[in-house]
Amino acid sequence: MTHIVVLGAGIGGMSAAYELRGTLGSGPDITVVGEGDRFSFTPSNPWVAVGWRKPADVEMPVAAYLAKKKIAFEGAGAEKVEPDANRIVLRDGRTLDYDYLVIATGPRLAFDEIPGLGPDGGFTQSICTTPHASTAWEAYQAFLQDPGPIVVGAAPGASCFGPAYEFAMILDRDLRKRKLRDKVPMTYVETEFRQRHVHWITNAKITAVRDGEMEVAEVDEDGQPKKTHVLPFKYSMVLPAFTGVPAVRQGEGLCNPRGFILIDKHQRNPAYPNIYSLGVCVAIPPVEATPVPTGAPKTGFMIESMVIAVAQNIRADLKGEPATAEATWNAICLADMGDTGAAFVALPQFPPRNVTWAKVGYWVHLAKVAFEKYFMMKMKSGNTEPIYEKYVLKLLGITRTR
Ligand SMILES: Cc1cc2nc3c(=O)[nH]c(=O)nc-3n(C[C@H](O)[C@H](O)[C@H](O)COP(=O)(O)OP(=O)(O)OC[C@H]3O[C@@H](n4cnc5c(N)ncnc54)[C@H](O)[C@@H]3O)c2cc1C
Repeated sequence: MTHIVVLGAGIGGMSAAYELRGTLGSGPDITVVGEGDRFSFTPSNPWVAVGWRKPADVEMPVAAYLAKKKIAFEGAGAEKVEPDANRIVLRDGRTLDYDYLVIATGPRLAFDEIPGLGPDGGFTQSICTTPHASTAWEAYQAFLQDPGPIVVGAAPGASCFGPAYEFAMILDRDLRKRKLRDKVPMTYVETEFRQRHVHWITNAKITAVRDGEMEVAEVDEDGQPKKTHVLPFKYSMVLPAFTGVPAVRQGEGLCNPRGFILIDKHQRNPAYPNIYSLGVCVAIPPVEATPVPTGAPKTGFMIESMVIAVAQNIRADLKGEPATAEATWNAICLADMGDTGAAFVALPQFPPRNVTWAKVGYWVHLAKVAFEKYFMMKMKSGNTEPIYEKYVLKLLGITRTR
């Protein structure tokens, strides 16, 4: 029996496992390998960090839901992938053989690239995982007792800026609700912050973080330092740069030097054609060169388009046909700002685009709340593309594959 292993039980991995079962029927064995027993809805982490959600609202144990679709689950985590042997070594020493591997391991959070960065031994908070957001909420509650300056930002090499913008806006909203905003000078980047009295610094890289202060080098267009800022803070959240996770980084041909999985236009690794990859862990070049290096963002709908392409290409391969499906990498984004929000449709996500559409309003905040409930429901039902989603998106001309 063909065995497909999906590595990673996040947004990409869970969606891929259900999609594979839906596309391939009951034929192959499918196993999801996760770290621990839970799925976590990452986009809600900013709300966890200000206490608007509890971790239990945005996490769920997955084994029983996957079992309903006859998908096995291993929560031991992968120690390493051995692509030449078509095998994964689990952290408890057991091994799993596969015919096809779908890697959806998301990012490793590279806090270690800046001294003092991050919640484990550093001085800044993170919202990248739900446990991090939970720690950030504890730190925020302590901060509310003795408020002061806040610094929010993203480290050099970061690819995922949206959640940091969102978090700054959400903090602003939460502090205004608590009538504490006047006691909290805030610093970040971007013009949307002007009317919210948030200062911003652009083209700047965080060089070090110490207890209560952050050193930031502003650079010119050639990336040369032109000014150093020392920003005092009582609370700080900084998104780190991402790399690939250690389990996939050994061996030739699987990853680029930062550990992101190399793929062709069919989401398939060029050196190991039975390995596919999707989500934040795939190698995509930066959209444009910037004075401070940045990565390309990989957002939810774009990831879903990769999921569908992977399932269709594995189906073709199983039938002995060539893989032809390509993900459109179209993007639909809902950015929450606490009391308003911004919706953005980009077809495709990276310019030049055929369609760029953006709207701001309170309805976006409500739509994001609805989307959270809807996605959690989808992860329980295993129905990755309900009929109404399929037809509404088609009507709007938003497709996942070509
Ligand atoms: C705070 C935040 C908010 C975001 N908000 C949005 C948003 O509103 N809209 C949007 O479109 N995008 C958003 N994104 C971007 C993107 O949609 C998410 O990052 C999404 O979670 C990425 O899905 P993924 O499956 O690639 O990675 P993840 O969801 O990170 O899943 C990867 C999984 O792999 C597991 N894993 C890693 N290594 C191993 C191993 N060795 N063995 C087993 N399992 C392993 C991890 O534990 C994790 O569960 C956000 C990102 C962040 C960080």
